[in-house]
Amino acid sequence: MIDKKEKQEKTIIIGSGPAGMSAALYAARANLEPLVLSGMELGGQVSVTHIVENYPGFPEGIEGPKLVENFQKQAERFGTKVEFDSATEVDLSTRPFRVKTWGNEYLAETLIITTGATPRHLDIPGEKEFTGRGVSYCATCDGHFFQGKDVIVVGGGDSALEEGLFLTRYVNSVKIIHRREELRAGAILQNRAFKNDKVEFIWNTVVTEIIGDGIVDTVKLKNVKTGNEEELKTDGVFIFIGHIPNTDLYEGQLELDENGYVQVDRFMQTSVPGVYAAGEVADSHFRQVITSAGMGAGAAMQAIHFLEDHS
Ligand SMILES: Cc1cc2nc3c(=O)[nH]c(=O)nc-3n(C[C@H](O)[C@H](O)[C@H](O)COP(=O)(O)OP(=O)(O)OC[C@H]3O[C@@H](n4cnc5c(N)ncnc54)[C@H](O)[C@@H]3O)c2cc1C
Repeated sequence: MIDKKEKQEKTIIIGSGPAGMSAALYAARANLEPLVLSGMELGGQVSVTHIVENYPGFPEGIEGPKLVENFQKQAERFGTKVEFDSATEVDLSTRPFRVKTWGNEYLAETLIITTGATPRHLDIPGEKEFTGRGVSYCATCDGHFFQGKDVIVVGGGDSALEEGLFLTRYVNSVKIIHRREELRAGAILQNRAFKNDKVEFIWNTVVTEIIGDGIVDTVKLKNVKTGNEEELKTDGVFIFIGHIPNTDLYEGQLELDENGYVQVDRFMQTSVPGVYAAGEVADSHFRQVITSAGMGAGAAMQAIHFLEDHS
């Protein structure tokens, strides 16, 4: 399927988020001169994060774009090559593995997949504009910034309720906006949410617009049964309507779980020897900078051992 003359690399890392850049740092320090294909979002989700306060080593927190810059500089210092390019096709049937990008074709003795997962968006006016300015996809990351505030949560599944309940540690009130009149979340979570005085539900309702002046101030709501529209003042909009793992490239070549995440063992090994996966592409549970970075470091350490054993 790939026929041009390829450049051969010891390790190619697909993705430049915390998992990819941490893998690059470890692989580079082992003199593998790894190639990172950055994808369209250099630095991954951190690049759109206003401030990260839960990554150790930065007692005052650090701005997302600055953390991305630091990750890249540190990896490059030891010989990482970063290409602003995306993998468009991979062939994992034989080693070295083949990777095709917009601009090039490569062979890789080992491959580390760190293409992340994308939070599902509402795709409504104001959502993009206010991301990091009141719109969030992560309560663990951002809940702390909403002490004593009134927020809404959008969604009706386990993560909407879990994250909504988590937010009650900080906020004054959480209104859960759900498009149906029944929740998909498990019974225990539902009971906890119904019993919590800070949690209120708004049923059969969707958010149609997010409004503010620099930061979120109001949402427009529409009742899907009656068609009634109203405005609601709020300090924050937490959106939990699922994540989409970026795994299209590997379908049919790697074992994926029922939700499309790459399956790895505790050594970040995928179903193909020599191919590792790390970060949110293989983790639907923790979804943090530190956990993704840790998985990336682990994947690189395993790739280093693999190359030692197969050289
Ligand atoms: C707004 C926001 C705020 C957050 N705040 C925090 C926080 O405060 N603390 C915290 O711990 N976590 C936070 N998170 C979560 C954290 O950013 C993620 O857990 C982390 O970035 C996941 O890292 P990753 O490397 O697995 O994937 P990502 O960061 O998702 O990176 C994926 C990478 O893969 C690349 N890619 C995708 N497809 C291709 C392809 N075909 N070819 C090449 N490259 C490709 C992308 O360009 C990107 O570089 C936040 C997330 C968001 C969205």
